Order: sequence, then C-alpha cells, then structure tokens
Amino acid sequence: MPYMIGVDIGTTSTKAVLYDLKGSVIEYANIGYPLYQEEDGMAEQDPEEIYAAVTEAITQVNKKANLSSSDLKGVAFSAAMHSLILLDKNHKPLTRSITWADNRASKWSDDLNESGIGHEIYLKTGTPIHPMSPLSKLIWLKNEKPDLFNQASYFVGIKDYILYQLFDRLVIDHSLASATGLFNIFNLDWDEQALSVAGVTPEKLPELVETTYQLTGLDKEFSKKTGISRKVPFIIGASDGVLSNLGVDAIDPGVAAVTIGTSGAVRMVIDHPVTDPKGRLFCYALAKDKWVIGGPVNNGGIVFRWLRDEIFTPEKITAEQMQIDPYEIITQIAEKVPAGSDGLLFHPYLGGERAPLWDANARGSFFGLTRQHTRAHMARAVLEGIVFNLDMVMLALTEVSGSPTRIQATGGFAQSSLWRQLLADIFEQEVTIPESFESSCLGAAVLGMESLHLIADLSAVENMIGSTHVHQPQKENFEVYRELLPIFVRLSRSLSSEYKNISDFQRKHYHQI
Ligand code: ADP
Repeated sequence: MPYMIGVDIGTTSTKAVLYDLKGSVIEYANIGYPLYQEEDGMAEQDPEEIYAAVTEAITQVNKKANLSSSDLKGVAFSAAMHSLILLDKNHKPLTRSITWADNRASKWSDDLNESGIGHEIYLKTGTPIHPMSPLSKLIWLKNEKPDLFNQASYFVGIKDYILYQLFDRLVIDHSLASATGLFNIFNLDWDEQALSVAGVTPEKLPELVETTYQLTGLDKEFSKKTGISRKVPFIIGASDGVLSNLGVDAIDPGVAAVTIGTSGAVRMVIDHPVTDPKGRLFCYALAKDKWVIGGPVNNGGIVFRWLRDEIFTPEKITAEQMQIDPYEIITQIAEKVPAGSDGLLFHPYLGGERAPLWDANARGSFFGLTRQHTRAHMARAVLEGIVFNLDMVMLALTEVSGSPTRIQATGGFAQSSLWRQLLADIFEQEVTIPESFESSCLGAAVLGMESLHLIADLSAVENMIGSTHVHQPQKENFEVYRELLPIFVRLSRSLSSEYKNISDFQRKHYHQI
C-alpha cells in the first residue's frame, strides 16, 4: 500500500500525519515548542527547537506505522507564513525565527503605507503591507539593527531553513515566497522594487521553485534518526493557509473556505493572481493555475472566549463545576434571542484588526444598546459581530473575484449549531462543515500525491473528506441581517477616525495595551 506523510510546521507545534491514498489518517504526531516574547511586540521561535520537533514528529509517525521502505512514497510540507531568519555565510542562524505574530516592524509598515510605496508594492506582490510580512521586518532590521542586518548572508523562512538541514539546498516554494511581500506574483520572480526597499538582493534569498518541487538525497543523520529511506522524495509544498483550502476541498471556482478558530479567515481559490485595488486582500500561490485570495481576521473565537471569561464568568464557573462546556451554556442563552439581537450590534475589534480594516488601532464596541438589552443579547451580538466582520471580508472578495457559490467552514466555532446557522444566514449561502483532520497536513499530502502522480489531480481530495453538517440560510433570519449589515459596515467607517485617539489614550495610560 502507498502512503504519504504530510508535515505542518505551525506556530505552536509541528504536526505530522501519515495518510493512505484515500486520505485516511493512519498515524499522527504533534510536537510543541515555545514562543519567545521577551520584549514588547516580539514573537520569536527557536529554529533548532523547530528542527528537533520536525524530526521527532516524522520519527514518531514513521516508527509507529512500521512501514516497509517502499510503501512510503513521499513526505510533503506545509508551514506558517511570513517567518524570517537571518543566516550567516555558513548558513548558521544569526536570529531566531521571527514569526508572523511579531509586531516590532509596525512603525516601518505604517511608513510604507503612508508613503504610497507600500500600495505600489502590494499591487505586485499580493501581500498586504503589515508588520507580519518579511518585507516590513527587513526594513525594520535594516534601520534598527543595521549591524545584525549587514552580517547576514541569507534571509530565509522556517521551512527553507529546515529543508536546508535535510538537503543542503536553500529553496523556497512559490507559495511561501508569495507571502513574503518580496515576490512578484505576476512574473513569479523576486520583485526588484520590493527587494530594493528591503535592502536585499536575489543572491541572499532562497532559490524559487514550484510547490510540487521534489527534493532527493536526504541527509544521512536525519534518515537514520527517522527511519525514512534516503530515496524517499520530499515535496516542498506550500503555506498552511492555502493548503488548508485544499485540505477542506475548497478549490473549485466559487467555493470559499471560512475558518473561525482563535482567529479567522475567508479564502477562495482562483486560477490566476489578482490583487485588490483597495489593498484589503492577500493573494498567495497554491499550485500551477491555483491562487488563493482572501483576508485574515484577528478577531475570531478569541472574542467569544473573552465574552465567556469576562462577561459570563458566573456561567463559566457553574459550567466547570458541572463539568460541561461553558461555551455550550452561553450559546444556549444566546439562542433565546432572535436573529439581529433586537438591534444590538457588536464590533469585534478587541485585538486591532487585519482584514478588512487593516487597522491595528481598531477597537471593539456595542452599538444600539437600550435598557431592553440583556446579557443574552450581548452574547448573540458577539457571535453575530464576528460573522458580520468576516462577511465584510467576503464582500471585498466578491468585489474582486465574484460571489461564492458554497462555503466550507472549519474551526472551533463549528461545535456550535447556532453559530454555524448564523454563518449561513449572514453570508446567505449554504454552509458545509467538512470532516477534515489537520487540513493543512492533508493539503500538503495531496499536493505531494499530485507531484508524484499518485492521483490524477488535486480534485482527488473531494473523495478524501466527509461532511458533518450542512446549513441552509433561513429567510426570516437573513432578511434581518440584510438590514443590519449596512449599518455595521457604515459604523466601522464612522468610527475609524476615532480608533487612533482611543488607542493612543489607552497606550498612554495603560502601557500593557
Ligand atoms: P485554534 O485557532 O487555536 O485552532 P480552535 O479552532 O479550537 O482554535 O477554536 C477555538 C475557538 O472556538 C474558541 O475560542 C471558541 O470561540 C470556539 N469554540 C470552541 N468550542 C466551542 C463551542 N462548544 N461552542 C462555540 N464555540 C466554541
């Protein structure tokens, strides 16, 4: 029997999953590592700790499965976007891996945006101008840590670093390259203007290859440790975001993937690269003629967690004593309130916002409060507000690349039937919850299978995942939401001029924010 391993190098852990060609999970391993946050805005990881975790995760699944050496056909990779590591001339790290969550480049990305050069670059690279991107990080390092910057011979991402240890080759796939802010998505090469603004030259960056590119000649030590034959090809793969679209079977035209986990995202696959004249959306590569356009949202389930901890504390304590999930009690309370929360709106911007506002100073608010409103209204308004915000991203997507026909939705929110239905009602679309385990690992494995010609094409994923729930929009609900959405959207425009004032005040008086 042929098998594939999909490996996802994530922000909290590395996951490795062994699949058969039907996409069934045979073995699974998950090895965590810390995030270092020793100064304001810092979010770094140790590349050596990640290398050890990748080795351990692959070793565990391979040894548990005890396959004969010819049965394992390949190992394919997924990784978190936007990481940056500086290497010296001997390819040794001069820094830790600076992750997407690191904010220290924010002054420099603000400057880029204000000068207009940022937008010019975005229109060619598809990566929104934000402190998350390697482009902003390079400008920050060049200006604020010039000695370190000048010492560097190479600038790479975490996956490029790991693969260098395994194959002695410095390569980056088009997908992760398309999330650096340095890669021109229209001619599939490093962008001259972006490189010049960042102060780097192509020789200092990894070689560009397609996402189906195979590496062979595995490092002897790694082969010995993991038990994987040196003949097994490794497929470079892509970023976790685009691979999760593949892993939930949202790759046909018009099918959108909506995720509400701790954060959230809306993504759609298109057959050619597109950028948004208004700069609200990313466009990242997945595979030949497959691009993923969408927006990442900071305020997903984390906002519901805030409601649970800060507003529904008594229910949380009771639920814990009764050993039931507090989220279930809160959603039952919210369910008693009709769609639209009797006119109470909630803006979920508790952690600033990326798409659709791209404003780190954005702040949350309840709007429309009257004496008739109760905590139950607040609970429902919070769930609705998170989805209204995602719908604003969907509206931007629709403007740029057409409306969706169907939605595949994933993440912790899917445990709540109320929240699932609310998504169908606000988006006015059929919503399917796919049964897909570690979708980025599955996406990587499927891309690997295609590269090795073990499947005809990527659409084979359709038969690898099931679905658990399907929800249809309910007319009596979406009619209410149709009236409220424009108010929600206009409100964010009217408030935008005050976001900076209130966040400046908060920073001045409460340094922790
Ligand atoms: P992560 O992004 O860390 O992978 P998850 O996908 O597990 O997170 O999502 C976590 C979020 O899912 C929580 O913050 C919460 O908002 C939501 N969630 C989890 N369980 C429930 C539930 N039973 N009902 C409603 N929401 C839930």
